[in-house]
Amino acid sequence: TSTTPSNQSPSLSNSLNETFANGQPKANATFVILCRNSDLEATVKSIREIEDRFNRRYGYPYTLLNEVDFTDEFKNRIRVLTAAPVEFGVIPRDQWYQPDSIDEEKAKAAREKMQKDGIIYGESVSYRNMCRFNSGYFFRHPLMLKYRWYWRIEPDVHFHCDINHDPFWFTISMYEYESTIPTLWRHVKEFMKLHPEHVAQDNAMGFLSSDDGNTYNLCHFWSNFEIADMEFWRSPAYMSFFEYLDQQGGFYYERWGDAPVHSIAAAILLPREKIHFFDEIGYEHNPYTHCPKLGTNWQDGRCSCDQAKSFDYNGYSCMAKWDKLMGLPSS
Ligand code: GDP
Ligand code: MN
Repeated sequence: TSTTPSNQSPSLSNSLNETFANGQPKANATFVILCRNSDLEATVKSIREIEDRFNRRYGYPYTLLNEVDFTDEFKNRIRVLTAAPVEFGVIPRDQWYQPDSIDEEKAKAAREKMQKDGIIYGESVSYRNMCRFNSGYFFRHPLMLKYRWYWRIEPDVHFHCDINHDPFWFTISMYEYESTIPTLWRHVKEFMKLHPEHVAQDNAMGFLSSDDGNTYNLCHFWSNFEIADMEFWRSPAYMSFFEYLDQQGGFYYERWGDAPVHSIAAAILLPREKIHFFDEIGYEHNPYTHCPKLGTNWQDGRCSCDQAKSFDYNGYSCMAKWDKLMGLPSS
């Protein structure tokens, strides 16, 4: 007979039955990196930095995902970087490629138009596959099911400061901003009308819209850095949101990014205090850097970034809107 409560599978509990030397429990968490074999050098650099700044003291495992097999050379070069467990996974075909329900003629015409208009990744099918996978499938990948939390990393990013606390113990969080979504907001509004039961009280709609939800201001959290609880993505509210959007075909007829999809979902389906901005994590993804500014975060992190070049209060940043909504100090 088992004494595990029947309503909670062990893989979904908050922590593994492991603790650090200081007695703090280790979160049931993994780094997740989606990349190609050709991203090897850039992936090595990202892992080297997160190991040096954080994970050599914490030992969280890595999960690397790709739509084709990683080469032996790739695996060897990655495994040597860390003492933590590393798993390499192939993405099931139906979680990656353009579904048959998409009208390829229509999708092709949209790609050609976007390319003519000079929209970044406008012509790319693989980029669209990636955005759809990151929106609706990574948290359902077989290697991810045993984890509850993840920290997303990309090739070629930089961690500028020591991370002296375990960020998995701060609730759910996400990051910064970007834009390719002419009809997305209309579908979001339709979804909210159809499913008012999924819309959270005290949500962060004020970050997305300055007119009470009528129009979208294009603010979003960058998803290339994201630490979150997959119970949210796996919840009926988000699954129904993703399925609804996926049925509209906009991942292929337009070029909906996983960043706005994740951001809009979190801002609407969650109470806003569930979203956390990590000031203390100095982070760079071309072309922007976030450099810590509050209190002694910059000194405590022995940061290598220049605070004066931090993106947050650049005119293109939505940070000031976030601070205002959350009642945070804004400099
Ligand atoms: P950007 O940040 O929007 O410019 O997009 P990236 O090129 O950085 O892609 C986002 C993430 O998806 C990164 O982790 C990439 O390594 C990964 N990625 C993008 N396209 C592909 C692809 O075709 N196959 C695989 N396996 N990974 C991809
Ligand atoms: Mn990127």
